Amino acid sequence: MIDRARPQPDPTPHVPETFDDRGFAGHPRGLSNLFFAEMWERFSFYGMRALLMLFMVAPVATGGLGLDQVRAAEIYGNYTMACYLLCILGGYIADNFIGARRAVLVGGLIITAGHYTLAVDSMAAFYAGLALVAVGTGLLKPSISTLVGGLYRDSDTRRDAGFSLFYMGINLGAFAAPLVTGWLAQSERFREILVGWGLDPNSCWHWGFGAAAIGMTLGMTVYVRRLSWLGNAGEAPAAGKARPWKGLIWVILGSAALLGLLVRADRYPALLVTLYSLPLVGIAYFGLFRKDEEGRRLGAILVFFVAAILFWAVFEQAGSTLALFAEDLTRNEVLGHGFPSSWFQSVNALFVMMLAPLFAWLWVRMGKGQPSVPVKFALGLLFLGLSFALMVPAAAATAAGKVSPLWLLAVYFLQTVGEMCLSPVGLSTMSRLAPAHLAGLVMGVWFLATSLGNKLAGTLAGGFDAKDPAGLSDFFLNQALVVGAMTVALLALAPWVKRLMGRRG
Ligand code: GLN
Repeated sequence: MIDRARPQPDPTPHVPETFDDRGFAGHPRGLSNLFFAEMWERFSFYGMRALLMLFMVAPVATGGLGLDQVRAAEIYGNYTMACYLLCILGGYIADNFIGARRAVLVGGLIITAGHYTLAVDSMAAFYAGLALVAVGTGLLKPSISTLVGGLYRDSDTRRDAGFSLFYMGINLGAFAAPLVTGWLAQSERFREILVGWGLDPNSCWHWGFGAAAIGMTLGMTVYVRRLSWLGNAGEAPAAGKARPWKGLIWVILGSAALLGLLVRADRYPALLVTLYSLPLVGIAYFGLFRKDEEGRRLGAILVFFVAAILFWAVFEQAGSTLALFAEDLTRNEVLGHGFPSSWFQSVNALFVMMLAPLFAWLWVRMGKGQPSVPVKFALGLLFLGLSFALMVPAAAATAAGKVSPLWLLAVYFLQTVGEMCLSPVGLSTMSRLAPAHLAGLVMGVWFLATSLGNKLAGTLAGGFDAKDPAGLSDFFLNQALVVGAMTVALLALAPWVKRLMGRRG
C-alpha cells in the first residue's frame, strides 16, 4: 500500500518530561494514572474470569449456560490463551500505527464494550463479548506496560521498583474483583434483592459481568482525565512514517495460525514440542550469530521468554492443580470455621499487595548493587521450584487424610516471592531491551509466554490424580526438578545473558 505524504509533526513536544518527576511515591505521576487504569482493567478481567467457568456450567434453570465441564474448560482455556496471544498483534499495531497511549484507549473501549455485551443475556452476546474482551486485552495489556517503561530513562534504577508498584495495582484489582462479582452472581442475598426489585433472579450472572463493565468504564475515565501526566510516552509513530500494512496482514495470519495450532496442540504432542523449541533456534541465531547490539538484545529477550514460559506453566496451575488440591485434599477451616476452597484464589493477590512495596523499596535501596536481571529471573524460578518441592511432602501427607491449609498458604507465599522476582522485572526488562520501534511487539512476546504457559498449565493439570498420594508427590517432584534444572541453567548462563543485554543490562 502506498503511503501518502502527510505533514510532518512539530518536532518539539509540548508536553512535560516525566523522567525527573517524583510526584507519586517517588515515581513519575504518570505511574499513578497507569496504576489505577490497570487496576480497573484487571478488576474487570479477573472479576469476569472468576465467573466465567461457573456461569458456563451452571444449569440453564439457574441462569447459566448448562455446558458440560469438558466443553466449558476448553472455552475457558482457549479464551485466556487468546487474550494473551493477541498481545503480539496489539503490540504491533501500537508500534506501527497508533502508538501505545492510543492503543490503551482503543483497547480499553473494546474491552468495555465486551463486558457490557456479556451483561446481555444471550448466547450470541456471550461469544461476541468474549471475543471483544480478548481483542481489547491484546491491544491494551502490552501497551499499558510499555507506557510504564516510557516514564523512565533507560538507566533509571527506579524502573524495576516502578513496575513493582504497577504490579500492586494489578493485584489490587485482581483481589477485589472476584469478591464483588462473586457476590453479585452467586449470593442468595443478591438474588433476593433482584426479586425485591421485580427482576429475574437468574439475571444475577449478568449483573456480575455488568460490574466488570462498570470497573472498566471507571478505568478508562481515570486514564483519559490524566493523560497529560504521561508526558510524551507512547505517542504514535511520526505521521510521515510508512505504515507497514503488509506486515500487519502477516502478523494477523501468524496469530490466527498459532491460535489454531495451540487450540489443537493437546492432541498432537509432537506439535507442542516443536512449538516450544522454536524460541531456542531464535536464541542460537540472535545470541551467537548476530553481532549488532539490537540483535544480541533480542537474543537476551528470547532467553527470558523461554524461562518465563516454564515459570507460568507451573505458576498458572494455581487455578488448576492447586485449586483441585484445595478442594479435594485440604481441610478448609480456620479456628473451627469452614471456608470455600475458592478463597485460596485470592491469596496470591493478597501476598503481592504485601510484598510489592517491599520489593519496590528493596530494588531502589540496592540501587546499582541489585542482582542482574538473569539472576532475578533465576531467583524467581528458584522460589517457584521450592514451592512445588514443598508440595511433595504435602501430597505424601494426604495418604492419611486431608491436610492443613497452611501447606497451600506456604506454597502460595513462595510462589508470590518468585513472581515478584520475575514478573514485574520481566515487564521492566522488556520495556528496556526492546528497540524503541519494537516496544509493543516485544511486550507482546512477553505475554505470549503467559499464553503458552497457560496452555501448558492446563495440559499438565491433566496428570493430577487426587486418589494417588505417591503419584501426586512424584507429579510435583518432577516439575520441581525441571524448574530446578532451568534455575541452574539460567544461573550458569547469567554472565552471557548479561553481556547480550549490553549497556541496558
Ligand atoms: N497477574 C499478572 C497480570 O494479570 C501477570 C499475568 C501474567 O503475565 N501471567 O497482569
